[in-house]
Amino acid sequence: MNRPQLILALDVDNLAQAERLVNLLFPRVKIFKVGSQLFTACGPEAVKMIAKKGAQVFLDLKFHDIPNTVYSAVSCGLADSVFMITLHTQGGKKMLEAGLKAAEDKAKKLMIKRPFLLGVTILTSEDKQADTEKLVLARAGLAKEAGLDGVVCSVQEAVGIRKQLGKDFIIVSPGIRPSGYPGDDQSRVATIKQAIEAAVDFIVVGRPILKADNPLNAAEQILRELAC
Ligand code: C5P
Repeated sequence: MNRPQLILALDVDNLAQAERLVNLLFPRVKIFKVGSQLFTACGPEAVKMIAKKGAQVFLDLKFHDIPNTVYSAVSCGLADSVFMITLHTQGGKKMLEAGLKAAEDKAKKLMIKRPFLLGVTILTSEDKQADTEKLVLARAGLAKEAGLDGVVCSVQEAVGIRKQLGKDFIIVSPGIRPSGYPGDDQSRVATIKQAIEAAVDFIVVGRPILKADNPLNAAEQILRELAC
């Protein structure tokens, strides 16, 4: 069984803090997530800084707008180091297709490999409802129909998605909490063991590493759990 890879959510307010974390954790952690907090604070400089270190970027801006705007946003966000980009599936099929087309067009222009495009299904901070799994599956199906490479979902829905959409469909799961760690604002949480059992491809971890007294030790502990 392939083990999930660890992505660190660089949810910090400034470039200096982000750079300190990349210096500390790369190359043990190879993929760093730039989300709305860091991108709003320092924009593409965050992506450039990570690229300069030789690490890969998961650009998690969850684009959700009219197709034309999403096309332009994806096009602006693309760079050699950007390995994955998120779009929100709630934006509908046309919007997802526009995002994919932008990634294809821009990658061709830059003569680089197109990054993976992922559809965000339902945020892991949302409580589980009777129809959550059905809705996540429907949104994952829409992402696949639009040509996307995978989805972001909680570990709790991963097994169903894998069964329905196949082993090549990428599954990225946030809301990971090492046992004993509080859930914070996350609701549909899972442990690392559960993420391995659900065969997700990537786990996204933020606060359990960022807020640790020693972030490198916290990351090493998670990497050890992922390896055994
Ligand atoms: O600190 P924590 O481990 O909860 O961070 C999770 C990260 O994953 C955050 O950056 C959050 O924006 C992101 N995320 C999420 N749920 C999703 C998609 C992304 O928590 N469905």
